[in-house]
Amino acid sequence: MKPTKTQFTRIAIIDKDKCQPKACNYLCHRVCPPVRMGEDAIEIINSKNYTPPIINEELCTGCGICPNKCPFGAIQIINTGVKFSEPIHQFGKNSFRLYSLPTPEKGMITGIIGRNGAGKTTAINILSGNLIPNLGEYEAKGDISKVIDYYKGKNIQKQFIDIKNKELKFAYKIQKVEEIPKLFDNKIIELLKQITNDEQKLEKIVKDLDLEKLINKKTSQVSGGELQRVAIAATLLKDANLYFLDEYTTFLDIKQRLKIAKILREKLNENNSIVLVEHDLAILDYVSDYVQIMFGTKNAYGLSSNKKTTKKGINEFLEGFLKEENIRIRNHRLEFSGIKATQNKTSNNLVQYPKFEKTLGEFKLKVDSGKINKAEIIGILGPNATGKTTFIKVLAGEIKADNKEIDTKLKISYKPQYIDIDKDLLVSDLFTEKGIDVDLFNSEIRNQLDLEKIIFQKIEELSGGELQKVAVAYCLSKEADLYLLDEPSAFLDIEQRVIIANVIKSVINKKEKSALIVDHDLLFIDYISDRVLLFEGKPSVNGHAQDITTIAQAYNKFLKEQDITFRQDPDTKRPRANKHGSQKDQEQKKENKYYFTI
Ligand code: SF4
Ligand code: SF4
Repeated sequence: MKPTKTQFTRIAIIDKDKCQPKACNYLCHRVCPPVRMGEDAIEIINSKNYTPPIINEELCTGCGICPNKCPFGAIQIINTGVKFSEPIHQFGKNSFRLYSLPTPEKGMITGIIGRNGAGKTTAINILSGNLIPNLGEYEAKGDISKVIDYYKGKNIQKQFIDIKNKELKFAYKIQKVEEIPKLFDNKIIELLKQITNDEQKLEKIVKDLDLEKLINKKTSQVSGGELQRVAIAATLLKDANLYFLDEYTTFLDIKQRLKIAKILREKLNENNSIVLVEHDLAILDYVSDYVQIMFGTKNAYGLSSNKKTTKKGINEFLEGFLKEENIRIRNHRLEFSGIKATQNKTSNNLVQYPKFEKTLGEFKLKVDSGKINKAEIIGILGPNATGKTTFIKVLAGEIKADNKEIDTKLKISYKPQYIDIDKDLLVSDLFTEKGIDVDLFNSEIRNQLDLEKIIFQKIEELSGGELQKVAVAYCLSKEADLYLLDEPSAFLDIEQRVIIANVIKSVINKKEKSALIVDHDLLFIDYISDRVLLFEGKPSVNGHAQDITTIAQAYNKFLKEQDITFRQDPDTKRPRANKHGSQKDQEQKKENKYYFTI
């Protein structure tokens, strides 16, 4: 696909689920200027049955009137600014279309970066042989021989030949691991045994992914992070030549993310390839051989960039401009400058807490003394199950420390890692509750998080990313002194992560309140935090909350433990992991400079 700037492709999408001609009496048709001039830019096909209209893209002038007038927000008109050739696959007239595919390569890990809704699921289905692309002829069924012809002379042709000859073995790790118990609610060992009888292989993956204590539990009895590891194990146990892992880092702490990155590299050989869709850029950067960027407009169209080196691909994605393709994918750059806005910051103390300990059954938490300032965001870094929530509960006076009364009288607003909001409520119901700062919600949160489109939707209808945004908005809109947000980046793509970080920063600054942010995305924590609190320990056995330090000090300590060094990318200023054993890695280790700013 080589776009030129001579002719533009205009894309018209009608969401058939939202379109209600009976209620609007085809308003779009009545207001369309070309229709008024006698051109069939919008056609009504069957008014008796109130079927949705169709928009003929070649006759539409892109005036933008119908999407604005449609009372149900069912129309999108996109002037792409470039001319595309025919799509690889189109689902129907005025429906989503995919223009190009990522291209996995044997012995390599391909990282896919991009927006949610840009067609990665369609691409996975095509590359795995579950969907034979129709090459844009949406009224016909896909024909694999035509596809093979279409890709003549390209590396990816072999993929389709293998699909035709049924020689492609494919393994896929689903994105929504929390749905596994609905599909298989039995012992985890039974799930894994369904995949292989090879005892040795089974034993190794159970050990590698620390599943020993879980295998005799049912899938419904384990946490999201544990389910994630089970899903990864089930995927890697398969004897496949294409592995596809969709967001493997969700619910995993950094140690686990890095450990699995190493396991993935071990899995590679000359006969297989791995494709990762990932929004944690530090991990993607660390593990991928090259990246491809999937971009487009949500639910309208998507395409994949050419292959790029990991550095170049991530930098171009952040910049919002793909050089080789000469395409702007965003009109602003995403910043990970690490430069902290110090204006409005005060050193006014919100809370000073003493050294304390807390025992909960077999688990023991040790906390060093510390101080949190007003208008300050403290990033919390460390393994899961080392006492982060216990720490907060003690500060809030919800539970007592061992032999000590520490009631700070702080009012806490908490967004848990696993969001549990009544599924029958409408989003709008949450923001009319008592204790909600409605003015703040309307002025600082609602628009920035783009909640307008979903404000009257039911909680149960929201996607993972939408639910995350609603939960963050709900937490920040409550009247409180201290906001605790546990994994606010989960299920969000990179652009959404930057937006959510900016909203948290602006609310905390404006209200002069404080926030503790637990997250495992190193770039996110680096971007959002003023200082960092490091937790160490053995999950579910013991935890140690150290004193709050600068980001550089905390990262240096944490990365040293993981035996990884980070340098700074000169163009985007983002932290980049050095390849293990590289010259830079060795130099930094010698200087005890695991994080570049130390
Ligand atoms: Fe009515 Fe909108 Fe459907 Fe057109 S697209 S018929 S305006 S609901
Ligand atoms: Fe008609 Fe296109 Fe304008 Fe819609 S955007 S009103 S279809 S010309």
